[in-house]
Amino acid sequence: MANCKNCSAPIPADTIVCSYCGTRNDTDLTGIHEFTEVVPDHERICPRCEVAMKTIDLKIGGTFLIERCDTCMGMFFDSGELEALIKATVKNVSHVNHNKLKELYALQRHDEYGITYIKCPVCETIMNRVNFGQRSGVIIDRCPDHGLWLDGGELRHLLEWVKAGGKMYNDKREEMKRKMEAREDIKVRRATTVHSGGGFDTYGATLRHSDPDLFTIVGRVIKWLVG
Ligand SMILES: [Zn+2]
Ligand SMILES: [Zn+2]
Ligand SMILES: [Zn+2]
Repeated sequence: MANCKNCSAPIPADTIVCSYCGTRNDTDLTGIHEFTEVVPDHERICPRCEVAMKTIDLKIGGTFLIERCDTCMGMFFDSGELEALIKATVKNVSHVNHNKLKELYALQRHDEYGITYIKCPVCETIMNRVNFGQRSGVIIDRCPDHGLWLDGGELRHLLEWVKAGGKMYNDKREEMKRKMEAREDIKVRRATTVHSGGGFDTYGATLRHSDPDLFTIVGRVIKWLVG
């Protein structure tokens, strides 16, 4: 458990605000990543606080810039960056820790903002609310064109979910679902082919590849029947 940087009281797992002194703590990057501040090309505005965000370099595989608000500790990741950060931070997840996942799912994040829709810091269109990885429990705000927003504390929750095998478990389930859907799709197509198999086109096409002579004979018979 993290401790408040101001009064050292333990910070509850479901929030980044110290319940004792009210200080907002950075639980996302402290101890996870070294980072430096850089001077941004364009200033981006925090969608929560409407103040300019800071650009920081997490130095993952070279320069890795994200925007962060010093006031609310929210972060904006360009498209694909969060996935890259997860990959670089959490390695060798070999099993699913179901107890830890249960704990994480039970932990309803203290959502101090309620259900609100916020604007993309780049294009200012309202972002979509999405449950990251289908069931991580972290509702991110995403702009389909520019990236996604995490409120303070959400990155920590997400990384814990990935570490506990939540992402691996979910990816496997999704893969199985895709395979099953593909199998169902083949079944349906087969059924449709058999059903419409009486048509000359389907029959003829099969014969054309396997036995041209037989095709010719069938063709003649058909001509004879029709003509
Ligand atoms: Zn405190
Ligand atoms: Zn902010
Ligand atoms: Zn946008």
